[in-house]
Amino acid sequence: MTPSSPNAAKRSAPDLCEPCAGIQRHWRKAPGHAELVQGTHHREDRGHGQASFTRYRCDRCGAAWEYENNKANQHAGWALLAH
Ligand SMILES: [Zn+2]
Repeated sequence: MTPSSPNAAKRSAPDLCEPCAGIQRHWRKAPGHAELVQGTHHREDRGHGQASFTRYRCDRCGAAWEYENNKANQHAGWALLAH
């Protein structure tokens, strides 16, 4: 799977605000945006290494995001939880 373009993200969730729609999902080290408010944080042991998860909520459109930081997984990154 190749990293999705911002246009693909917009198609699957048309109500996201523009900065949220532009977030590159499931890609390591992809940036978020300035209106995301940081929430809870937790760690999980995935066997092949530790993953850490941070929840964010968008101040503009209310989308709930989770960012996974996992050195062992290039596709760990932003995931949309709810909107
Ligand atoms: Zn948003």
